Amino acid sequence: MTKVRVTVWNEYRHEKLHQEVADVYPQGIHETIAEFLGKDAELEVATATLDEPEHGLTDEVLNATDVLIWWGHMAHRDVEDAVVEKVAKRVWDGMGLIALHSAHFSKVFRRLMGTTCDLKWRAEGEKERVWVVEPSHPIAAGLPKDYFEIPLEEMYGERFDIPAPDEIVFISWFAGGNVVRSGCCYRRNQGKIFYFRPGHETFPTFFQEEVQTVITNAVHWAAPNKGPKLEFGRSEALDPIQ
Ligand code: ZN
Repeated sequence: MTKVRVTVWNEYRHEKLHQEVADVYPQGIHETIAEFLGKDAELEVATATLDEPEHGLTDEVLNATDVLIWWGHMAHRDVEDAVVEKVAKRVWDGMGLIALHSAHFSKVFRRLMGTTCDLKWRAEGEKERVWVVEPSHPIAAGLPKDYFEIPLEEMYGERFDIPAPDEIVFISWFAGGNVVRSGCCYRRNQGKIFYFRPGHETFPTFFQEEVQTVITNAVHWAAPNKGPKLEFGRSEALDPIQ
């Protein structure tokens, strides 16, 4: 069995600077995500963080990554543009990308979306009800019927300035009344991208079973299909042109 090689990338700044975040994720958000993904025998999981050389995303690492997971927030600007371009190229060549929560504003996600990716927000801690609006989608496999709830989250609300997703798997409603497209699938050339909204750093969202199920499913969905490399440009006629 060929394993799906996953790299969990985390900015890993909040956990070092803010005690309230370190209290929730003492080893960093990346380690929490890597730990639950590691329970899936079909996955081979590694981590990378911003402050490593080349942000931990050397050519060697990227070329050996089938699916890249991205969490970032306070230091989007510190991500080198050259690394952003390499990640985008890998996605176009087939690498899967899962952008979590505040990664909506990461350079990588905005580069691949081509829009501002801006939204409304409110970090007061309120209930999020994640509606499963495409229950037959592989990313929704194993989830409760209709919806699941996260007791405390940051609110993200529409308008969320993203391109119309190829598929919307989840829509979230918040106790304060806002809604947002919270599970969005995109295809970009040979690569698949999934944006998943929950995951604010001061809440234990990544320890919640349903959230772990979504991210694990998304890794399998976003894995490259191993098909032939695409060829573009001038194309000879396959049949005589009448
Ligand atoms: Zn947040």
